[in-house]
Amino acid sequence: MAHVLIAGGGIGGLSAALACARVGARVSVFERSAVFSEVGAGIQLGPNVMRVLYHWGLKAALAQVVAFPERLQVCCALSGGELGTLRLGCDMARRYGAPYATVRRADLHGLLAHTLGLRDDVSLNLSGSVAGVRQTGSGVMLQLTNAQTAEGDLLVAADGGWSTLRQQLLKDGTPQPTGHLAYRAMVLQSSLPAHLRSQRVTAWLGPRLHVVQYPVASGEWLNVVAIVHGKVQGDMSHWDHSANAQDLQLAMSGTCAQLRDLVHAIDSWRLWPLSIRVPMLGAYQHAVGRVALLGDAAHPMVPYLAQGAAMAIEDAQALAQVLADGGVFAPDSQTTTSDAMADLLHDYASQRWPRNAHVQARALRNGEIFHATGVVSWGRNAVMRLLGERLLDLPWLYGGGPLPVAADR
Ligand SMILES: Cc1cc2nc3c(=O)[nH]c(=O)nc-3n(C[C@H](O)[C@H](O)[C@H](O)COP(=O)(O)OP(=O)(O)OC[C@H]3O[C@@H](n4cnc5c(N)ncnc54)[C@H](O)[C@@H]3O)c2cc1C
Repeated sequence: MAHVLIAGGGIGGLSAALACARVGARVSVFERSAVFSEVGAGIQLGPNVMRVLYHWGLKAALAQVVAFPERLQVCCALSGGELGTLRLGCDMARRYGAPYATVRRADLHGLLAHTLGLRDDVSLNLSGSVAGVRQTGSGVMLQLTNAQTAEGDLLVAADGGWSTLRQQLLKDGTPQPTGHLAYRAMVLQSSLPAHLRSQRVTAWLGPRLHVVQYPVASGEWLNVVAIVHGKVQGDMSHWDHSANAQDLQLAMSGTCAQLRDLVHAIDSWRLWPLSIRVPMLGAYQHAVGRVALLGDAAHPMVPYLAQGAAMAIEDAQALAQVLADGGVFAPDSQTTTSDAMADLLHDYASQRWPRNAHVQARALRNGEIFHATGVVSWGRNAVMRLLGERLLDLPWLYGGGPLPVAADR
């Protein structure tokens, strides 16, 4: 049975483990942390990724932890007025074959870890910090920082935006700071005044800032992310800094009362300095020989299309599909030669890089539109009011990916 090694046990790494195990692989995951955990913040899951998670048999488990917001609304952060809306709920499920959901990262990550823990073809190795990889004629040898090694047929580099493996394989430096800071908080809805509770996804757009809020944990909690321009000192690769709520309140002082009230009602914020790479330039950035790069290791992006984890999950499904179609996991399969494995991973890379590059670029463009000032922001608001749903619905994104919506739906 082909042995897949996976570096990184984030949402991308665990998704790759599940996708590959489902089609017959033996999988070993190496995560540097001592416990599997995800810092408490939310993510949105569009129908493109919900289709994949449902395909993996997670529909019933997801229903216990996600929220299904009925509507996405875009508002002006200065006036508070609504600029446009997109119907989610049944409407989106009908159009795209799965609903739009929102979830606590820890819930999604925990669900993946729990599902993998039930399988005897998957081994999850904590405190397994990866130092590098060596490709041999017959496979890959993973080197851990504790001097141990592991051998497999291929390696999935899912070690995040600051990937050690990418730096070894592609030698293209580290991600660059965007000058944008993400303040993130999660608050019990019942602890908020009634006018601040919400079961919708709301994006507030303002000059050099935007705020996104949505329900998670079956709607009991509200996840809030405020993006402002600014810098932090110190290690940019460290995601989770504690934040000074007063800095955020100051940055929000010119916004509408609803938004100021929301920011004031939350005491505890965490701070993420956002770093990125330019959008992918070719398949060579997604696979090198017997190593497939996946998720943020391959295509870190600003979160302004809410699709970073989604693309990691899509990568996982696409990779498993290519390997299964190539017969790598068939019970009678012989050892796959290096050339044959490299060809399969090249297929994966060729399939994935254009979509990932497109998503990275659209997310960057959204940042410019969301944070527009002066005349440009007036134009944005006018177009949004005029086109509304036609602008906010994204069939190329929600209908695409490794499990596209059937054309005759
Ligand atoms: C503010 C914000 C909001 C977001 N909102 C959304 C959203 O709504 N929807 C969405 O889809 N995405 C969203 N994202 C993006 C999403 O969080 C990321 O794209 C996603 O988590 C990437 O997953 P990953 O597994 O590739 O990387 P990571 O989550 O970074 O996981 C990498 C893992 O590898 C481990 N690791 C690192 N180095 C090593 C090593 N040397 N050896 C072993 N293990 C190692 C790390 O400990 C970690 O567990 C958002 C991001 C931010 C910052």
